[in-house]
Amino acid sequence: MPSTKTPYNYGKCHVCSGSLVERKVDQDFRIKGKLIVVRAVPTGVCRRCGEKVVRAEVGVQLAAIVTDARSLRAAATIAVPVVSFEARRA
Ligand SMILES: [Zn+2]
Repeated sequence: MPSTKTPYNYGKCHVCSGSLVERKVDQDFRIKGKLIVVRAVPTGVCRRCGEKVVRAEVGVQLAAIVTDARSLRAAATIAVPVVSFEARRA
């Protein structure tokens, strides 16, 4: 009997063959020059190297989320610092 409680099996990390564990990760996307953060995305994270893997159906949902103009207009926004690399030079 299929259960949504069963953790998704991400298999092994394609980079280092470490084991992947599911975490809720904030992911950021750039859509037409705009930075969009999607919070708490179920993501397979490699315990060894930190590689992140999103399963196919989550990817489909993410694509829908970041292109949904109506919900983006209603979304909370955060201010992020934007610093030029040049400005770091003393
Ligand atoms: Zn890895």
